[in-house]
Parts: sequence; structure tokens; C-alpha cells
Amino acid sequence: MKSEPSRSKFGVDVLNDALRRQRRRRSRMTASTVHYRVGNGDMHLVEIEGGRKLLIDINVRQPGPDVPDVITQLRKRLKRDAEDRLFVDGFLLTHPDQDHCRGLKEHFHLGPPETWSKAADKIIIREMWSSPIVFRRASRDHQLCDDANAWACEARRRVKRFRERGVGPDGERVIIMGEDVDGKTDDLGPILVKADGEFSRICGVTGRFTARLIAPMPASDDDEDEFLSKNNSSVIIGLALEADGDPDASRFLFGGDAEVGIWEKVWDRNKSRKHVLEYDVLIAPHHCSWRSLSWDSWSDYGEGAEVSEDARSALGQARSGAEILASSKQIKDDADDPPCIRAKREYKDIVAPQNGTFACIADRSGTDPYEIEVTYAGHKPKRPTVAATVAVATGIGATPLPHG
Ligand SMILES: [Zn+2]
Repeated sequence: MKSEPSRSKFGVDVLNDALRRQRRRRSRMTASTVHYRVGNGDMHLVEIEGGRKLLIDINVRQPGPDVPDVITQLRKRLKRDAEDRLFVDGFLLTHPDQDHCRGLKEHFHLGPPETWSKAADKIIIREMWSSPIVFRRASRDHQLCDDANAWACEARRRVKRFRERGVGPDGERVIIMGEDVDGKTDDLGPILVKADGEFSRICGVTGRFTARLIAPMPASDDDEDEFLSKNNSSVIIGLALEADGDPDASRFLFGGDAEVGIWEKVWDRNKSRKHVLEYDVLIAPHHCSWRSLSWDSWSDYGEGAEVSEDARSALGQARSGAEILASSKQIKDDADDPPCIRAKREYKDIVAPQNGTFACIADRSGTDPYEIEVTYAGHKPKRPTVAATVAVATGIGATPLPHG
């Protein structure tokens, strides 16, 4: 009988040591994540062990002296399918703000996959992972930029196709992350993930990851307005990445731009099972904004601003050696928010007892994205290639050290 690790809730690691060693000998595969330099915005590529690629948000700006050509960097990492089309397996849009979907129309194919053209050579999205906010009508409080409208339109097209013809093939797939109000998502069955739901499938196939949907949470009547705001409709997702046979080699927590009120609710909902909020890598929400940690504005209150203990607890379940990463501009000691210097201090305090680290993507020199490799030993940031070039040029590190 083939022995498999038993998988309990959200990748709680129950591999025994013998099985772990056996798996390690058998495979040397890894997962990795790529975090692009997009200023105050988000763009992350998760390369799941086995080769599946999940893109989380994009912020493709016009390249310039301080703006890396992130779309070219992304395209280099993608594969082409049998019809010569570049593709991502999954694309999670955490919420429809410009700094999370800029460049969608220009660089991604929207519409039925058979309308793709070589001349345009856009990227196919095999499976969209979308928040239920796509079902919202535009209103005074809910206005979308062009790219966000294009996303909503394409997600609705795919949902309509599902309602008419069932789950579609790659390029037609869509998963809705969270229930909408008034039963609007009740008939979505296999393409709906509810809050607290866990899944391991991408494009209909079981992948080497376990995802847990933390938010959006079901909206109650009194907080519908809050649900409507784009930041607070953000998808919050935990991703346990498998590597070398360990199903929970590294746990990532992506929180979009969710603000303090949502993090307080997240804590309230999960404080009796706080292991589901644990992470090895946290992307500091809302570009390292103070608004994710406090109700008091940084510019008004400064050092007098109070931290919300509940929000801090929701964001504070760092595992040993955890890393908090800010996807933002460089963090300066000033009144700006986001990114906010005091949020950075708070995150450093969170990881300090765990011997963890805090980093900002913009602090790395050069234009390369920030990369993290995941192996059985956990996560490790890759050294920037700039440093490697310097090492070669100066001869430092040219002689390999003996293995100790
Ligand atoms: Zn944002």
C-alpha cells in the first residue's frame, strides 16, 4: 500500500520524519515566488512545485529609468501551450484597484481563447480567481478603472458560460473567491470557494499547494457598505506551498489592501484556530500601510496613533524565521502612508521574537524582482543577481568553499 501523508486542516504538517526523508531523496523539486518591483502596487508570481504558475495582481507601468519592464520579466518566466500561446495557470486579482490590475487589457487575452491572435501575442489566463465584487453594479461608491472593468466583464462572461454549459476548458475557467450578498453566488457550486474553504486545485487538477480563503467573509447587513469598498473586499488568502514532498514547506499570506476593520474581523473569526493565520512569508497588506493596523491616521496622529490589537494579532502569527515583505516604494521616515515607517516598525516587532526579517522589495538594487525559493528547509530569499555579478568581477567567491 502506498503510504501518503495524512493532510489535516490547512496543511498542518503531519509528515513523519521517515516519510519526509524518503520524499526528499525521491524528488528535488522546489516551489518559488517572484515579487515584482511595481512601486505602491502588487504583482507576484507563485511557481508551484510541478510547474503550475499563479499570478497574483499586476501593476504594469510604462517602463522608465526607475520603472522596471515587469511584463517582459514576467513573460520570460511563462511557458507556451501547444498553440504557441503564453499562459498563466491562475490569476488571482485580490481587488479591482488600478495598482493591482494595471495593464490587464494591454497584456492579457480577454474573451474566448479561440479569438487569441499571434499578432497581439497576449497572455492567456487559464483560470481567473476573482472576488465576488465582479457582480456589483457600478455606483457612486463603486467605480472601476478600465482594466478593472475589463476583468469584471471577462469574469462575468466566464460565469455566464459556466451557468450555460458547465465548467469550461482552460482559458474559460473562473473561480469566485467568496460569496456575494443576496444569494447571487448560490448557484455557482463547483466554481465558488466560500470563506474558510480550502482547496488544492488549479485548472481542475490537484496541485502541490493548499489554499485557504480567509476573506472576503460573508457580509452581514450592517457592514454592506464596508463590503462594497474595494479595499475591504480584498481577497485574503493563505497558500501552503509544497516542496520536496513536504505539503507545508512554506506558508504565504497575501492580504491585498484589506484595512484594519477587516483584519479585526479576521481575528475575531479565527482567533480560536489561529494556526490558519500562521505564515512564513507575509506580504504586508496595502503596501505596508498604517491603515491595516490602526484606525488612527498616521498623518493626523503620528506617534500618538494606537495600534488595533486585534488587527495586529491577525497579522502577527509569524512562524519561526518568518519574513514580512512590503510591496511598496521605499519606506522613508516621513508622514507618508503607504508605505508607512511606523507600520514597518510594527512588522519588525512582530517578526523579532521569531528571529524573522522585514524587507521592502524596493530596497534591493537593480531591476530584478525579489525572489524566494521554497524547499523542504523552508523559504529563502534568492540573492540578487547584481551581487553575483559583482562577486565574479572582483573574484570574491570565485573559489567554492569546501562543504562543511
Ligand atoms: Zn493597492
